[in-house]
Amino acid sequence: MHRYDLISCHECGALHRKAPLGPRQKARCVRCRSVLYRGASAGPERMAAIVLGAILTFLIAQFCPIVALEVNGLHTSATLFGAIVVLWQEQMQVVAAIVFLSTILFPAVELGALLYVTLGLRAGRVLPGFHRLLRSVSAARHWGMTEVLMIGILITIVKMTSLAQVLVQPGLFAFGALTAMLAFVVAYEPRALWELGDRLRPRAEQDQRALLAAGRAPLQCHACGLVAPDTGAPQQHCARCGKVLHRRRPDSIGRTWALLLAAAILYIPANLLPVMYTHSLFGQQDDTIISGVVYFWTSGSPALAAIIFIASIVVPVLKLAALSLLAWTAQRRSRWRPYQRTLLYRLVEFVGRWSMLDIFVITLTVALVRFQSLAVITAGPGALAFCAVVVLTMLASLQFDPRLIWDAGAASTAATAATPAAPAAPPALPHAHRIDSSGGTHG
Ligand SMILES: [Zn+2]
Ligand SMILES: [Zn+2]
Repeated sequence: MHRYDLISCHECGALHRKAPLGPRQKARCVRCRSVLYRGASAGPERMAAIVLGAILTFLIAQFCPIVALEVNGLHTSATLFGAIVVLWQEQMQVVAAIVFLSTILFPAVELGALLYVTLGLRAGRVLPGFHRLLRSVSAARHWGMTEVLMIGILITIVKMTSLAQVLVQPGLFAFGALTAMLAFVVAYEPRALWELGDRLRPRAEQDQRALLAAGRAPLQCHACGLVAPDTGAPQQHCARCGKVLHRRRPDSIGRTWALLLAAAILYIPANLLPVMYTHSLFGQQDDTIISGVVYFWTSGSPALAAIIFIASIVVPVLKLAALSLLAWTAQRRSRWRPYQRTLLYRLVEFVGRWSMLDIFVITLTVALVRFQSLAVITAGPGALAFCAVVVLTMLASLQFDPRLIWDAGAASTAATAATPAAPAAPPALPHAHRIDSSGGTHG
């Protein structure tokens, strides 16, 4: 039997035997229902073509202006990079750097690495740097926020229509197309490419029995998903991609608390300090996040007010509360509703990036409203604090190891998990067959 037939759930640690999947099928964990892996939707040929198309669209999106404004014959326009430069020059270097990373550098790294790897696989070769680049794809994907930027652009346009004549530029359409293409690219998991690489360059196979014989549950590589026996050595590296293997993320709960505390403290200035200053002929106006929401509400855009309110106020509070609950219950080794807590973690992971929405709106607004004689908008210190809250809560959810939720009750949940209750998924989806729970931590 082949060693790569085993997969351990990244959210609860339950071990499964992999079943082959057809295109667009998913295998779910029998215990926590998280998606374990997907059937390959495209071969490396098609993937390389899609990625190449996305790179060309990305370049057009980056170099063309996104939107232009016209007031009394005065004209301004903004590219994404130009907007970041404006922010940088206004002493908002940290915010500018985070916007640059999440909308330019990380998407570029993801696309560039994927193109290199898939072109190699297409030619039947595992090119040098294969593992390092695939690992960077997973990391860059977590922090790339093109889809959030796209919604931020649309909100900025609606906001500007009340101030000036808005002229839509080619960059806007390129960002729209790029968002759609990235949705395709994201459906393709780096782990599928790792397995294609294995087929081209097979390594020594290992008996599954040897993996399970050690008496403890095997370890799973966070990056490539390879399951390896736990030798008990203080530091083990993945045999495939070289990443350090951990049974659970080290000091997960302590680090989560530290990041949450920092985020909670910064949440206060993020809401109290102005995020934008408007200097106009009529004097200066300060805007906090909440006054921005009120502005949309009173100016006849309740839908936009609701979107910004949810993304900027509700989501950060929800994340702080949810992660505190998860860290607290995991610390107490609670057995309370592990499935629901895993769902809560999944929700936090999913919505986390959307809080950046207001930061993107501020970035574009500051770049566009630069009519020296009429009105100039600059960013305020609240934007910096808010940006820090978003990044800190994202780091906190990354530090929290969701498998800790299941560790306490590993023995008792084994019985309930065995019942084939399949709540949400349609029955046509094949489920990976589970062969053991992670109860090995107790064994
Ligand atoms: Zn699971
Ligand atoms: Zn690995």
